[in-house]
Amino acid sequence: MQFHVITLFPEMFESPFRGGMIGRAIEQGIIELHLHPLRPFGLGNYRQVDDAPYGGGSGMVMRPEPIAAAIDDITGKHPGLWKILMSPQGEVFDHAVARRLAAKTDGLLLIAGRYEGIDERVRSFVDQELSIGDYVLSGGELPAMVVIETVGRLLAGVLGNPESLKEESFASNLLEYPQYTRPEEFRGISVPEVLLSGDHGKVREWREAEAKKRTARRRPELLQSRKSSRG
Ligand code: SAH
Repeated sequence: MQFHVITLFPEMFESPFRGGMIGRAIEQGIIELHLHPLRPFGLGNYRQVDDAPYGGGSGMVMRPEPIAAAIDDITGKHPGLWKILMSPQGEVFDHAVARRLAAKTDGLLLIAGRYEGIDERVRSFVDQELSIGDYVLSGGELPAMVVIETVGRLLAGVLGNPESLKEESFASNLLEYPQYTRPEEFRGISVPEVLLSGDHGKVREWREAEAKKRTARRRPELLQSRKSSRG
């Protein structure tokens, strides 16, 4: 699957995706990451990409022409890309949204804003606006990376063990059950007996019950959406 990013700071993407699961998927060709610097699409000798806001106010706003030119250039070469503007005003990104995006086989084009944001008219040239949560970052690069990593690990072949996706938090609107590894006892806290029992049926029951208990305590609203999504 192709991920394209329009950004003023392409170098930010280097180290996070060099190693780890996504890095490996890039090496294997399961994921293609194409970074498109916005600067060359800037206006005039200075390759200007921002300007003062009409109506006054603090800071600078990204002009629409360089972004629109970059979008046209990229989608001209790669038709069918699903165009996403990273924005704190967008739909809030979660597991369900990630699943829908992982099904966009033509690939994604993520647009990272900077400064005070982007000229309103750019909204008409994208398919979706996505926020990674109710807080404001200084740029869309980290949000774009969050989307790439989350969607990327849902793609077939990216995770070593695809089974782990099924039980992970949010996969079925449940938080994951508690996990333990060695040692059996640590600072007076023991691993629950059932996990040492070797009884796979019991282990499964315990995990399911713990996942529900934990979700009810920490994120009761997830259980609600679990009921409604089951009809
Ligand atoms: N003034 C704007 C925020 C601009 S922040 C407002 O109040 O809505 C600058 C850029 O950072 C945005 O264009 C967007 O691309 C990115 N950004 C900031 N917070 C984000 C979030 N929660 N989710 C996604 N992108 C975000």
